[in-house]
Amino acid sequence: MPLEVCATTRRPLPILTADQQAALDPGLQRVIDYRKSGLSANWIIGCPLDCTYCVRHTFANFEMKLPRRLMDEQSAARMLLRNKHFRPHVTPIQLLNRATDPMLPAVKPHTLEMLRLLDEQGITNHVLVITRWRIEPQDCAVLNSFHNIRLTILVTHSGIDDARIEPVDSTIAAASLQTAFARAERYRVILYWRPIVPGLNDSDAHLDRARELSHFAHATVFTGLFFKDQIRDYYRDNGLPELYVDNPSRKIFPERLEQRILTHRGGFGSPLFRKTSCAVTFAHGVADYNGHYGVRELCDICPVAQIKRCAEDWRRPDEASTAAWVQRLGGEMLEITNRAVIVEGLPEGRRNFLQHNLGYQVNDINRPHHIGRHGRADIGWTHPQETTR
Ligand code: SF4
Repeated sequence: MPLEVCATTRRPLPILTADQQAALDPGLQRVIDYRKSGLSANWIIGCPLDCTYCVRHTFANFEMKLPRRLMDEQSAARMLLRNKHFRPHVTPIQLLNRATDPMLPAVKPHTLEMLRLLDEQGITNHVLVITRWRIEPQDCAVLNSFHNIRLTILVTHSGIDDARIEPVDSTIAAASLQTAFARAERYRVILYWRPIVPGLNDSDAHLDRARELSHFAHATVFTGLFFKDQIRDYYRDNGLPELYVDNPSRKIFPERLEQRILTHRGGFGSPLFRKTSCAVTFAHGVADYNGHYGVRELCDICPVAQIKRCAEDWRRPDEASTAAWVQRLGGEMLEITNRAVIVEGLPEGRRNFLQHNLGYQVNDINRPHHIGRHGRADIGWTHPQETTR
């Protein structure tokens, strides 16, 4: 299948010049980056959708409304597959999850081309594509044509109806979800219900809507918001209502809201998950690659068959070889608990790499996880919690 042309310009997206790329935030110049859900390829940046809580604020890129490429798909695929952290059939991959939407008309042909290039390698890695934009029946035909990669389409739907916060109409994502789910043969579809923000989109009506939509997905993830400094500054500068008074480095998800959602769990049409990788792996009938099974309280809402898969797959790593591996990556292993390998001095990307390869949680000693909080921020959790160590 040749690269399709852009629907609006009839040309592939232009590639930024070297000078233009040099002026970008260093984080955006890095096309391949290791994130929690996998090795992430971001060779296109720029987005017109204007979700005000967008992570692009943190890269000083929010004003770039026209998507542009940093390189072509061949080069991006090569860079991904040759990355020292990439392992065929193991490393989860995410496409275009940082600075654009992969299903925008001008971006979509490039997303599909990248999927084709990866699939033709014969690799079975998970590939995650997250969108809130339009998925058409003809897109589903292409998505169904991939035979090797384990492809998951995550459709972001927040239900936020305050256009100052999120100008994109949530009905677009709702329609995409239904279109993609109705035609899914070789790929899986997740309702990515996020960000859920108290007072903004957590009314009973919002919860009812999410329950309705969950019938059009193989699994549903519910999660909160990163409200980082740069996003808060944007809200202040633009007179927008601030969503939280604090700015934690983890996702915010208050306990009471979680309880309200879980109380009505029976009404959901697909299983609910707190973690993206749990939903993705459930949808494909394999064990979670992040080793969340060690954080056992996460599993209280998981289907029995999936718990069994994760239980069979999860094993405590060998101390000596893990310590040596951590050292090779530039850090120090402190201990292995029943839940996680505890390390010091490893940046997040390397922790994620190790986590995916061990299938066991890898936590930084300086960022302790608390039992029952699932790695989320402290805001909205009232009971003092014991640390996991
Ligand atoms: S059993 Fe636990 S770790 Fe495995 S998918 Fe379910 S919630 Fe996630």
